[in-house]
Amino acid sequence: MLSRPSRRSKYSEEDLYCRIDDCLWAFSDPRTCMKHRQRHFPVQWSCPGPCKKTDKEGKFARSETLKRHLLFRRYAACKKVVLKRLGLQSVPASGALWLAPLRDGPDRPWESPDFQLTDLKTVKERKMSVCGTTKAPSPAEKIRRRRYK
Ligand SMILES: [Zn+2]
Ligand SMILES: [Zn+2]
Repeated sequence: MLSRPSRRSKYSEEDLYCRIDDCLWAFSDPRTCMKHRQRHFPVQWSCPGPCKKTDKEGKFARSETLKRHLLFRRYAACKKVVLKRLGLQSVPASGALWLAPLRDGPDRPWESPDFQLTDLKTVKERKMSVCGTTKAPSPAEKIRRRRYK
């Protein structure tokens, strides 16, 4: 599903709060929020290249790691396969978002019926009590610290 919604000005407030477990992060853009939410879920990035000899090989916990893998000279064959698969001429220098199609698992696990997001009211209440007591770390810092459970 790569189609971008044409109307982007109207989104619900619920999409601006992470609301995964006790995560209270708020965002000004729902897309940033979605991207942030994905970090709560351990995802795998699999290399479609020839490095994959067993089931465990060719899987990476982070897109950056997969990207690094593709840049190794000894995995040039993998790079070729990936570039062909994604229709690219070369590995983009910045970021790893272009690797998104190689991600394993659902795009938005929090939308699955057996996952429950914390409701907005609770999040706001918690946020009220959290703010003012401790200085909150930036979202990136917090995630780095708690890792993927
Ligand atoms: Zn979060
Ligand atoms: Zn590979």
